[in-house]
Amino acid sequence: MSVDTNLSASSDKLLDGAKVAARVQTEVATRVAALKARGITPGLSVVLIGEDPASAVYVGSKERTSNELGMHGETIRKPASTTQAELIEIIDRLNADPAVHGILVQMPLPKHMDPETVLRRIRPDKDVDGFHPVNVGKLLIGEKDGFAPCTPAGVLYMLQAYGVPTAGADCVIVGRSNIVGKPMAALMVQPGIDSTVTICHSRSRDLAAHARRADILIVAVGRAQMITADMVKPGAVVVDVGMNRIPDATKKSGTRLVGDVDFEPVKEIASRITPVPGGVGKITIAMLMANTVRAAEQSIR
Ligand code: NAP
Repeated sequence: MSVDTNLSASSDKLLDGAKVAARVQTEVATRVAALKARGITPGLSVVLIGEDPASAVYVGSKERTSNELGMHGETIRKPASTTQAELIEIIDRLNADPAVHGILVQMPLPKHMDPETVLRRIRPDKDVDGFHPVNVGKLLIGEKDGFAPCTPAGVLYMLQAYGVPTAGADCVIVGRSNIVGKPMAALMVQPGIDSTVTICHSRSRDLAAHARRADILIVAVGRAQMITADMVKPGAVVVDVGMNRIPDATKKSGTRLVGDVDFEPVKEIASRITPVPGGVGKITIAMLMANTVRAAEQSIR
């Protein structure tokens, strides 16, 4: 997706996820309208197995956002007792349905299912979550018709929207998951983005020393406020993917959401920083919509 960088003039230190998501969604809505004019309504089918409350919220907003943007969003809800064979049958039906351009199976799956087997069953050209090995490979070799996972794709889109220079920049990524850390590294090192990438993880010897070298520090660990101000280079751009609930007696719920970065002190040092909430979390669903509209566009080429 092309990124025009008009947020780059913003003097605000905060990288605003809602603004970035709104921009992505406006672009998606225009592309949906163009497809509809040709008789094609992009369709996204989300499959939810079980009653996990957080997953139910996620799939609800995916369906709602698809429909708001003029796509056809549906959620297929099945009980936790569904067998893997039954889920495979559902995927096969969606794979064969020309009205369905994007398929997403909401994770985590119940324990009796093997997520790898399930994810591999989704046709790669409908795998808008970007987890099928074919899409992982396409991302690594830089083939543009594949799908990158939505969270790292959203982080890159945000950096570009704010005009953060990436070429030659030292980009340090903390976390090496297949969902965030590894695909983030693959995106940042691609020709055209051209960062010099370091990936850190729980076995890295001196995390602070690596982090302090970063011009762009991207953190996806899942440990509340672990990146402290002494680990950040003055002027660095800090992207916090982490989402952690910590106790907070002043809140009605008794908890509040924080990132992996100790936000207030790090904000004083960083040139730009994402808040949590209000940062990366806002962009992920918008990128899913962008992947789905592209799947629909590619289906008619
Ligand atoms: P994950 O699969 O648990 O991976 C965490 C990574 O952090 C692992 O690679 C782990 O290293 C590393 N790590 C753990 N402790 C560390 C330490 N002390 N020092 C350095 N590295 C350490 O998590 P994930 O799925 O990538 O998610 C990470 C965070 O991002 C979570 O808070 C999650 O909720 C959030 N998230 C947000 C979004 C969104 O905003 N839309 C999307 C996805 C995830 P090892 O590999 O060595 O164990």
